Formats: sequence, C-alpha cells, structure tokens
Amino acid sequence: MTLTLYNTLTRAKAPFQPIDASNVRMYVCGPTVYDFVHIGNGRPVIVFDTLFRLLRHLYGAGHVTYARNITDVDDKINARAARDYPGLALNDAIARLTEETTRQYQADCAGLGALEPTIEPRATAHLPEMARLCEQLVAKGHAYVAEGHVLFDVASMADYGGLSGRPLDEMEAGARVEVAPYKKGPMDFVLWKPSKPGEPAWPSPCGIATPGRPGWHIECSAMAGKHLGDTFDIHGGGVDLVFPHHENEVAQSRCAHGTPGMANVWMHNGFLQVEGEKMSKSLGNFITINELIASDKFGGQRWPGKVCRMAMLGTQYRSPIDWTVERLAQSRATLMEFADICHGVTASVPDPEFLAALCDDLNTPSALSILHGIAKSAKRGNREAAGALKASLQLMGLYDNETRAEMAAGQPQVTVDAVHVEALIAARLAARKAKDYKEGDRLRDELTALGIMIKDAKDAATGEFVTTWEVRS
Ligand code: AMP
Ligand code: ZN
Repeated sequence: MTLTLYNTLTRAKAPFQPIDASNVRMYVCGPTVYDFVHIGNGRPVIVFDTLFRLLRHLYGAGHVTYARNITDVDDKINARAARDYPGLALNDAIARLTEETTRQYQADCAGLGALEPTIEPRATAHLPEMARLCEQLVAKGHAYVAEGHVLFDVASMADYGGLSGRPLDEMEAGARVEVAPYKKGPMDFVLWKPSKPGEPAWPSPCGIATPGRPGWHIECSAMAGKHLGDTFDIHGGGVDLVFPHHENEVAQSRCAHGTPGMANVWMHNGFLQVEGEKMSKSLGNFITINELIASDKFGGQRWPGKVCRMAMLGTQYRSPIDWTVERLAQSRATLMEFADICHGVTASVPDPEFLAALCDDLNTPSALSILHGIAKSAKRGNREAAGALKASLQLMGLYDNETRAEMAAGQPQVTVDAVHVEALIAARLAARKAKDYKEGDRLRDELTALGIMIKDAKDAATGEFVTTWEVRS
C-alpha cells in the first residue's frame, strides 16, 4: 500500500518514501506549557497521532520515531509563573508551572486517544545544542552578534522563504513592525537574546559576556537535529506555524548543517474554528480539552476524548473544522453504534479500502464513511465485517478496551430547560411552514444535541402539524 502525503514544501501530493524504512522519523511542534491547552491545540495532537499509528502499521511499530517537543521557555511562562507562585523564586516557580502543565497536557493527549510519542524533548534540556547551533551559524557566516543578540542573517541564504513561498523582497516591504536598530536586515530573526534582570538566563554563546536565552525557532532546530538527525522524513504542526516558525527552522538547520533540506515532507493541519474564526487563547473563543472531557461547559454535556477525536477526524486534516455541539453529538452517536458492534468481537485486520483512504493523505472522512458501510454489514450479522471494523477503529485510535466504559460514563446528564426546548420547537415549526427545511433540520439537530427526541404528527382535528418531545433515555 502506498502512502501519499501532501507536502507544503512542494505544494503537491506525492508518494512517501522514507529516508530509512527501518527508522521513519517525524517531528511535530508541541505546546508552550503555561496553561491548559484548548481543543484547537488538540488538532495537531490527533492528526499526527493518526499518522504515527498509520506509519507504525505500514513500517512496523519499532520502526517509527516520533518526537513532539515541549516548549518550556517563553515570556508567557515567566509571567504566569510569577503570578501563580508569588512565594517562590522565579526559577522554582517556572519549574513547578511547567511540570504541572506538562503533566496536564500529557493527560489531555491520552484522553484524546493519542499514543505517547517516542520522545518528548523539553527545550530547557537542550540549551547546549542551541548554543552550538548559534556558534555554527556565526562561524559559517549565516548569523552575527549585535548588542548581546545572535541574529540570523537572512540575506546570507539565497533561497530563504522557500517553505512559505514568500519572496524576500516582498516580505521586507511588508515588514511593518519597527525594526530593531541592531538588525542588518529587517527580516533577520533572533537566535539568542539577552535576559533582562529576573528572567531565566543561561551562559551565552559566541563570546557574549552577559547571560541570555534562546529565541523561539532555534529550540526546534536543536531538538529535531539531536533526536532525528540533520535531515529527517516528516515535520508537522498547525498551518499558522509555516511562517515564521517553520521557515526559520529550515533556514537555521539547513545553514548550520549545510544540507539541502531539513525535513523531506512538511505537513500542516488546518484550523479548528468557532463560528468561522480560529480558536485561540487571545480571541477568548476557546474551550480546553480538559473542560470538554471533564465538565459540561460545552453544550451542557461531557464529551469523552474519543468522541472529540472522532469529531476531529470527520474532516480531512488540511480543511478547517467548525467545532459545534451538533458535530460532537453526531460523533457520539456513531461511536456508540460502532463500539456496540465491536464489543465481544475479535479484531481481525483493518479493511483494505479503509486503509487506502487513510493512505491517501489521511483522508479520514472517507475512511470513516467506509467504516459506516462495514458497520451496516456487521449489523446484518457479518462477523468478518465486525472483526475488520474493530481492527480499523483500533488503527485510528477510536477503539480500545476502555471505549465502551468511557462512552457510558460520558452519557449526557440531560438537564432540560423546557422553555428553551419549546422555543426551539416553535422556531422549527415556523421554519418548516416557511419551507426553510435547512433551518428546520438545523434546529432538529440542535434539539438532538440537547438530548431531546421529537416526534411530528398531524392533528386529526385541525390538520396542523404538532410536535411532541421527550428526553432521550
Ligand atoms: P501554540 O501553543 O499556539 O504554539 O500551538 C500548539 C500547536 O497547536 C501548533 O501546532 C499550532 O499550530 C496548533 N494550533 C493552535 N491553535 C490551533 C487551532 N485553532 N486549530 C488548529 N491548530 C491549532
Ligand atoms: Zn517548532
């Protein structure tokens, strides 16, 4: 079976050919650990876990190395640590905060059905590697020292901008931010910077006397280089990372190692959105993974992690997703149906058509619709189909020994606001009267998501449609 992947670098889909089939290597940019992460951050976790599982299936579990880093040095971390642990020295406060948040992040990932990556390198454990990269880049004429900073000299790299496809002169013309006076070129970026008093600090490279700290991009170049080598197979993250983060990673790694590429395939997931806008901390339109799984803050129900995973995989990873209660309710219903079929069945092997869909640039919606067909056949008593369904769901991380218990525990605790329900029903009847069936269906979905079942009937006396409702048991 040939795996085909879309590559941001070439803007095309191509068959995947690992550098070394006995050790397929993938790096994905992980979180900055200062708070609970939101479900938008969960998208790369689920997408690249699905790819990790597929690669393990194709090449053997012991032949795939997956590194996902933890960014534990950042201004947001410093500010949050000082605020949350005022009694502690800043370094101790930072250690406490990043340890706790990392643990929480790992619990969230496990909740979403993600396997542990092979390695989870932390930035603060790679300061010597980052310093060495700075030294190499200065020695090779790709970086310079200015006022306690080490800066990457963008003009020294002829094909800078290749990943994001932005010509340098256009980027320079568009650089609206005030350019620091010590920069040679407006697009030059920080590899190392001086620490202000009270900030975390490490011995600086390149003969700089004052202690400092690394820039953002250098940490991923250092960690990827150390754990996966100068050139590796796949580099992933959200589409917001293409520029500047990944562009600058490529520049650093290629120029330091003298290689034509950093990763052969660059993959980027699309945004998870709320009403058409990217879910993000700064917009305040976010829901954390922890809140989805453990509270009823979203749509008045708890959503088991595998339901969230199913909801995420219902869309191909490069397209945007709107995160709605309806989507989750539908995913819950499907997963419950699938889980009931799988119960007590021996898993066989994943269905070949399903596998082919996954191998087509992770076409998970197509893979799931194939599983719907298989489930239908299994429900008609086809045991072979049930075995294939179970193996396929296991491969996608949607079914394990816990799934049925998780689904039962996650059953909606429906608290009904009868006035709201009646209002929705009235709105639906009005929509249907106006022949706006799309709106009518949408309102029915909204009621379903609230755990309400409705029944339409014609009133024999008046000939009018009436709708009765009950809480789904
Ligand atoms: P951050 O901590 O913001 O750097 O994000 C960690 C990872 O989550 C990166 O790969 C981001 O691209 C990704 N990410 C952040 N927000 C979203 C979102 N709304 N949808 C999809 N991916 C996101
Ligand atoms: Zn990164």
